[in-house]
Amino acid sequence: YEKELKRLSSLELIGQMAAGISHEIRNPMTTVRGFLQFLKKDKHNRNQDYYFDLMIEELDRANSIITEFLSIGNTRTSDVQMLDLNSIIYDMAPLIKIDASSQNKSINIITEEIPELLLNRNEIRQLLINLCRNGLEAMSPEKVLTIRTYKDCDHRVILAVQDQGEGIKTEIVEKLGTPFFTTKDNGTGLGLGVCYAIAARHHAEIDIQTGPEGTTFSVRFKY
Ligand code: ADP
Ligand code: MG
Repeated sequence: YEKELKRLSSLELIGQMAAGISHEIRNPMTTVRGFLQFLKKDKHNRNQDYYFDLMIEELDRANSIITEFLSIGNTRTSDVQMLDLNSIIYDMAPLIKIDASSQNKSINIITEEIPELLLNRNEIRQLLINLCRNGLEAMSPEKVLTIRTYKDCDHRVILAVQDQGEGIKTEIVEKLGTPFFTTKDNGTGLGLGVCYAIAARHHAEIDIQTGPEGTTFSVRFKY
């Protein structure tokens, strides 16, 4: 009976994922098809470039959704090497700053001396970007996003991304990381799923502290 339940719930999960991914891929396809049909009729449209750019954007979006989705399912251990987490953060800082200042927000980086960790550079970059994007999107202008690293007494290095948003409701916290779960009009609902998958491949844990003052996502790496 329990086995049957498990089988059913995994079938249900596959169904949900299939629905999510179909929706995400079909939307851009519909848009691109519409534009192509329109441009076919109106070959000398003055705004051609605008439509071409939109189509490219839509296709890129569909492509990155597939990439992110596959990365969630990938549980192989990462290709890792001993790296300095702080340098990865400082390397990414200019990119995150551009993101922040385009929304009239700022970032603050506070690092401590930490031991090197076994990391996959690209995955950690992705993890950091996804957490920072969410943090930035959760805040109103003028607010500050803080990225921090520190060591705790438990042989762990922590990467914390703290925002000054309004916090996350309990019923939503429970759904975080479920593929395609989003509360945003333009969200894919894949960002956190990717983060959890990357953390798992690094044997790290992610915990969330949230309240009316904001939310902190802490990634705990063992060393
Ligand atoms: P997306 O950002 O595309 O919606 P994510 O998987 O990155 O997908 O996040 C899923 C949902 O989790 C978001 O839609 C939002 O409701 C919630 N969330 C994630 N990070 C935060 C945060 N820092 N503050 C408030 N809500 C958040
Ligand atoms: Mg996101």
